[in-house]
Amino acid sequence: MGRLDPRTLLIAEIPILLLVGGLILAATLLGRRDRTLGWTGAALLLIGAGFLLGVADPGGAWRRSVTSFGALLILAHACVWTGLRAFSGKPPLWPWIAAGPLAWCLVCLWPGFVFSSAARVVAYGLPTLAYTGASLWELGFGPRGKGNTRLAVLPSGILLLHGLLTAARMAVVSLSGSEPGRLRFDFPMAVFEGMLFFIGVAFAVLMMVGARSERRYRHAALHDALTDLANRRALYERGGSMLRESLAQGRTVALLMCDLDRFKRINDSCGHEAGDRVLAAFAGVLRRAVRKGDLCARIGGEEFVILAPDMDAEGALGLAERIRDHLRECDCRICEPLSASIGIVCAPQGGNELGLLLARADRAMYQAKDAGRDCARLWTGDPEGDASAAVAGGGRGRAGQHPVDA
Ligand code: GH3
Ligand code: MG
Ligand code: MG
Repeated sequence: MGRLDPRTLLIAEIPILLLVGGLILAATLLGRRDRTLGWTGAALLLIGAGFLLGVADPGGAWRRSVTSFGALLILAHACVWTGLRAFSGKPPLWPWIAAGPLAWCLVCLWPGFVFSSAARVVAYGLPTLAYTGASLWELGFGPRGKGNTRLAVLPSGILLLHGLLTAARMAVVSLSGSEPGRLRFDFPMAVFEGMLFFIGVAFAVLMMVGARSERRYRHAALHDALTDLANRRALYERGGSMLRESLAQGRTVALLMCDLDRFKRINDSCGHEAGDRVLAAFAGVLRRAVRKGDLCARIGGEEFVILAPDMDAEGALGLAERIRDHLRECDCRICEPLSASIGIVCAPQGGNELGLLLARADRAMYQAKDAGRDCARLWTGDPEGDASAAVAGGGRGRAGQHPVDA
C-alpha cells in the first residue's frame, strides 16, 4: 500500500475546501440564505485557493507566493469576522475587510521583507489578531453581542489558534533553510492547519445556526405573530416569575387588561386586514405608553395585558389614561373611531396569583364596558371572597367589584 504523504493529504484537502466553500457560498447567493453561512463559505473558498496556489506554485518566486498566500489567508479571517458580524445583524465593513490583505500586500513590496521570517510573522499575525479581537468584540463583548459570549469562545479560539499556527509555520519554513528566492511549502503543518480551520469553522457555524434557529423557535413560541408582543404563554412564564419576585420583595404590581371597543365593527365595515393593522397599531400604542421593564402581552383577539412591577393603583390609573391619550392621538383610526376599555387590578391587594389577577382585571374591564366603554375601572373588592357579595349586601353586581372611575 502506498504511503499517504502530507502533500497528498493537502492536495486531497484542497478540493474539499473549495467544494464545500463554493457550495455554501453559491447556496447563500442563489437562495438568499443566512449571510453568516455565506461569509463562512467565502472563507473556506479563500483558504482552499491559498493552498492551491501553494501547491500549484511550489517553486514560484518568494515574493509572489508569499504575497498571494498571506493575502488570501488574511482575507479568509476577515470573512469569518464579517460572518460573525452578520450573525449579530450587522453589515460588512468593506474598508476594514480590505485593510488586512492590502496592508500585507504593501509590506510584501518592501525589499527583503519576504526573506525575513520575523517580519512575516509580525505582518501576518497583526491583522489576524486584529480580526480575532474584532470577532470577539462582535460576538461576545459588543453592545449588541451580550449573551453570545458562549458562542464567541469557540470561533474566536479557532481563529486565534489557526492564526498562531500559520504564523509559526511561516517562521518554521524560513528557519528550515529554504533557499532564498524559492518557496518551500511545509505540507504536514499546512494539512493540519487547513483541517483545523475547516472543522473548527464548520463546527462554529453549526453552533451559530443552531443557536439562531433555537432563538427563532423560542421567539415564535413566546410572541404573537401579528403584533410581536408577548403571547399568553409568555405572560404566564415571564409574568408569573415577575409577579412572584416583586411580591417576595414586598413591592406592588399592577395588571391592566385592555380590550378594544366595538372592534368587530371595524372588521365588519373595513375588512379583516384593516382590523389587523389596527391591532398592530394598538400594540405600538401600548409599547409607547409603558415603561421599560413592563410586560405587554396580547392574550386574545383584541385583548391585551400589561403587567407593571412597582406600580400602585394610582400609577396604573395614570398608565390607563396615557394609553387612552396615545390611542386618541395615534393614526390607527382606519374607518371607525377607536377606543379601549381597561380593567385594572393591583397585587397583592387584588390577589397574588396571576390567574386570579387576570380574572379580576377582566371583571373590572367588563365593568368599564358596562359604564359606556372608553374608560378604565379598578378592581377594589375583597381579595379573599366573592366580591359581588360586598357590592350590594348580597346583591348580584355585574362584575362583583367596587369600580373606581379613572
Ligand atoms: P366590545 O366593545 O364589547 O369589546 O366589542 P367587540 O366587537 O370589540 O368584541 P367582540 O368580542 O364581540 O369582538 C372581537 C372581535 O375581534 C371578533 C373577532 O372577529 C375579532 N378578532 C379576533 N382576533 C382577530 C385578529 O387577529 N384580527 C382581526 N382583524 N380581528 C380579530
Ligand atoms: Mg372588544
Ligand atoms: Mg374582547
